[in-house]
Amino acid sequence: MRTIIEPFRIKMTEPLKVTTHAERAAALAAAHHNVFLIDAEDCCIDLLTDSGTGAMSTEQWAAMMLGDESYAGSRSWKRFEASVRDITGMRHILPTHQGRAAEGILAECVLRPGDIVPNNSHFDTTRANIEYRGAVALNLPCREAYDTQAEAPFKGNMDVDALRACIAEHGRERIPFAMMTVTNNTGGGQPVSMANLREVKAVLSEHGIPLVVDACRFAENAYFVHEREAAYRGRSLLDIAQEMFSLADGATMSCKKDGLANIGGFLVCRDDGWAERFRNLLILREGFPTYGGLAGRDLEAIAVGLKEALDYDYQVYRHATVEYMARQLDVLGVPMVRPAGGHAVFLDARAMLPEMDPLHYPGIGVVNALYLAGGVRAVELGSVMFGHLDEHGVEQPSPLELVRLAFPRRVYTQSHFDYLIEVIEQVSNERDRIPGHRIIRQPKMLRHFTCHFEPI
Ligand SMILES: *Cc1c(COP(=O)(O)O)cnc(C)c1O
Repeated sequence: MRTIIEPFRIKMTEPLKVTTHAERAAALAAAHHNVFLIDAEDCCIDLLTDSGTGAMSTEQWAAMMLGDESYAGSRSWKRFEASVRDITGMRHILPTHQGRAAEGILAECVLRPGDIVPNNSHFDTTRANIEYRGAVALNLPCREAYDTQAEAPFKGNMDVDALRACIAEHGRERIPFAMMTVTNNTGGGQPVSMANLREVKAVLSEHGIPLVVDACRFAENAYFVHEREAAYRGRSLLDIAQEMFSLADGATMSCKKDGLANIGGFLVCRDDGWAERFRNLLILREGFPTYGGLAGRDLEAIAVGLKEALDYDYQVYRHATVEYMARQLDVLGVPMVRPAGGHAVFLDARAMLPEMDPLHYPGIGVVNALYLAGGVRAVELGSVMFGHLDEHGVEQPSPLELVRLAFPRRVYTQSHFDYLIEVIEQVSNERDRIPGHRIIRQPKMLRHFTCHFEPI
């Protein structure tokens, strides 16, 4: 059949509030024109993030009822450990309450001030945890990653020559480990090829540098490898994921992504010395090593979710929705980052509003127009999030003004996507009327979450 369907049916529903334009205008004004400050129930389609926003399956809910809440050595822990070990093949498995906790433990145990951690691209919490230790988080994405219009199959890859140059310059002593983020979130959810991962591993092995995979979207990456790397056609996604982890010495994970759970994470490694240090800090920060800040029922949901994320039909459906969106936007001539990533579509607000001064925040204009037109909540990745003050205190814009539509897993159906496309079409047709914005109140750090705007 040509039609790709959602490979599930719906047993439990959650109402979406359908609002009028006047209600949305009032909600946006009350939120000082910052969609982060709007109540979730006033959003019709909420695409702020794909993190922890997925729907669980009947199997996961059933497993939750079996949650064993014993403090130490619970049955739920055994099931979690077995599932994570089956996929990653790692000797040491430590549960954490989410991904950043795993990153924090890794950084605190292994990094010293002045160390360097290369990565294809660091996610913002990874970067923050590394910098908090006084170390340097270095991005080494491949060249194609810088071109938002290049149609390359693996734009999440690392630039291997740049990695070699980095090791030659700084030496093994200052690089306690390197990372690879799959898929590359900061680069737009772009995949990493197995060939690239293998090459990176080979270079690191020459120098005895361990490789840590940021595995948040390992199953989406396995799907891309299956579709785009000839040697992997016909292999199961579990098989591909196992091969990927076989190249790693450790991994950090947010189970709020490809764990298909609403909370949770883990840190895994092969080295006994690392594991000993991780475990001591885990007990201090997260909890006993058999629950790590999670309830037994969360461990159960994750044990099942990790395997469901590797279900081929689920990945076919997930990527079909992203592809469908991208194709329709192409037909409408709405500018976006190419090709579409694994978990999101990124609109190019600068190309939509070429006349607007970047410091009037075109991304915020588009985000707010999407909310007004249809109650769709998206997020700006542009000068509000990434702009900075130069040495004279003058605000410098970000090189890109993007608007991210991130897709929760198993939550929205085809008609929601059709609605979304209609909302984007309307915003695009009426782009001349989108106002610029100025910031009238902002905190010193992470201003995008709480600042107040005013339309100009
Ligand atoms: C979400 C994410 C993290 C952090 O995980 P949290 O569970 O939000 O702490 C780290 N790396 C990547 C690539 C992510 O997408």
